[in-house]
Amino acid sequence: MRDRLYRVEAIILKRTDFGEADRILTLVTPDRGKLRAIAKGARKPSSRKSGHIELFTHSMLLLAKGRHLDVVTQADTLEAFLPLREDLERLGYAYYLAELVDKFSEEDSENRPLYDLLLHALRWLGDDACDSALLARYFELHLLQHVGYRPQLFQCVNCGTAIEPTDNFFSAEAGGVIDPNCMQTQREKIAGHARDAQPIPLNALKVLRFLQSREYETVRSLRLTPEAQAQVEGLMRDYIAHHLERNLKSVEFLRQLKQPFVVGMGESVAKAVAK
Ligand SMILES: [Zn+2]
Repeated sequence: MRDRLYRVEAIILKRTDFGEADRILTLVTPDRGKLRAIAKGARKPSSRKSGHIELFTHSMLLLAKGRHLDVVTQADTLEAFLPLREDLERLGYAYYLAELVDKFSEEDSENRPLYDLLLHALRWLGDDACDSALLARYFELHLLQHVGYRPQLFQCVNCGTAIEPTDNFFSAEAGGVIDPNCMQTQREKIAGHARDAQPIPLNALKVLRFLQSREYETVRSLRLTPEAQAQVEGLMRDYIAHHLERNLKSVEFLRQLKQPFVVGMGESVAKAVAK
């Protein structure tokens, strides 16, 4: 009986209602990758587990091997990230980071750097001084690195030559930056895997390179103009959508948050997120 039980440290990425009173949890763990488990009776008001398996909570769980899904038998909060829960925008960003980790990680596949990145990002996001959008861009670049989709920003993806500070192109399909020379002379040759190539403004390229190659402590004080922020966000959105082959739900939520006339809508989405 004992060996059917195991203990995991986890962050709750997603919760889905199941049956009368249960929840199915999607978890990310440091040494087992993504994992799904069922928390029986977690929606009952009397449940002692429910507070410890809130969305984005960092918890220590005791699981029992089940036939289909493993069962949460005990849960203890390690970190609740309360500041996140008091602000709709931060909550939206936390939802986005968790969704990225969910979509890009695999079950039963250890990825400690990815786990640590999420854990740290949830802490940083709760800091009053945190620029949530900048953190999201940093997170995207480092997540892509940890899951094997690192965009190549320092050498041309086609010829390997160091990228010069000039008019370059960016292609999610090709996996990074293409220099103007390759774009002109080898267009037919690379067209098959760079159909989405678009010009990349020099400033946006510099920002991406800086975020990709530095630690968060170094980049956190960077202040971007709204224009640069929008360019970098657009490039990353295209890159991620290409690699996921679909758009993320939380991207739409964050977009709605930025529009004042849908505040009520944002609240209803936030309720859905918190459910
Ligand atoms: Zn080239």
